[in-house]
Amino acid sequence: MSGETGAGRWTEVVVDLGAIAHNVEWLRRRVAPAALWAVVKADAYGHGDVAVARRALAAGAQGLCVALVEEGTRLRLAGLQAPVLVLSPQPAEQVEQALKASLTLTVHAVDQVLDIERVARRLGLSDVPVQVKIDTGMHRVGAPPELACAIVDAVTGAAPAVRLDGVFTHFACADDPGHELTSRQIAAFDAAVATLGGAGTHGVRRHLGNSAAALARPDAHADLVRVGIALYGIEPGPGVAHLCGELRPALTLRSRVSMAKRVGAGEGVSYGWRSVLERPTVVATVPLGYADGVPRRLAFTGGEVLIGGRRRRILGVVTMDQLMVDCGDDEVAVGDEVILLGRQGDEVVRPEEWAERLGTIPYEIVCGISARVPRRWVGADQ
Ligand SMILES: *Cc1c(COP(=O)(O)O)cnc(C)c1O
Repeated sequence: MSGETGAGRWTEVVVDLGAIAHNVEWLRRRVAPAALWAVVKADAYGHGDVAVARRALAAGAQGLCVALVEEGTRLRLAGLQAPVLVLSPQPAEQVEQALKASLTLTVHAVDQVLDIERVARRLGLSDVPVQVKIDTGMHRVGAPPELACAIVDAVTGAAPAVRLDGVFTHFACADDPGHELTSRQIAAFDAAVATLGGAGTHGVRRHLGNSAAALARPDAHADLVRVGIALYGIEPGPGVAHLCGELRPALTLRSRVSMAKRVGAGEGVSYGWRSVLERPTVVATVPLGYADGVPRRLAFTGGEVLIGGRRRRILGVVTMDQLMVDCGDDEVAVGDEVILLGRQGDEVVRPEEWAERLGTIPYEIVCGISARVPRRWVGADQ
């Protein structure tokens, strides 16, 4: 994502790459001897994939995970050479692009293996890595455990240009450490891997865990963990919040006051006049809105921003490009800094707070900061 397109705009995302490095190093120590692979899908959860991937690798991440072939290709075009795993099967039409970019594809069916074999031969490639996804209870993608063996047989038999690089599964409830499903998924995965015999062990990466499992389930670290949300210093869920103490949030969403004025008692603010002022109030306008990723209804859930080191209530509906803030009797000037997410003085607003207000998860908040907000990276060489 280029920060240049919006250069000079008052609204921006600032990503602290020093925080990313700190989080990688702290998480690596927790999961060692397992490796950490950084999940940088969806533009690194809105943080900027190339910058985050580069910093995470420098801090000791040993591989990268993406959701799309296009996302993996972007990392290669930027010159990154670490292993890149595409986490779920992709359309057959994209296999060629994936192989040309040296991405590791995920398969969960024999015909996917054969598609890759055909393309590999056509391109004159050999030793093409694939990973087999096993569904142990999430029921999203993955082979049923009893079919894992047939897929691995296809890789080692019918597809000589293809090499088995890994077998993995994904937890449905790892953010709830009390949930009994996780232990059942671990057992189902171990049983499926056991059916593979030697083919499933020699040089084959076994992995199960996301951030929540990396934090809460040392028994599921296996050869590596696929860490996304924790990399960004965000809690995977309230159930594992007590394990996240040393993670540092990396993202700040900031803007500046574009207009400040006193509005009289009895006047309404924003579309529909859903907020009517009880007394004369200084109203600050801030140039970002729902097209930038601030949900329209944040105001009605008590949403607040930081100006002058203090929490201030959003007034009325958030509009597409602007929102208004209640500054009481305080003097506020055009150009004053506004923090939507992040720290100002002693106050902090986190994506976890928005998520709680809006009845969602912080993943959706940071992924929802739209592409039109310029990204800027700081702390590159700390
Ligand atoms: C997105 C994803 C992850 C990362 O999950 P976090 O909770 O962000 O750590 C890991 N594995 C798979 C298969 C995923 O889709």
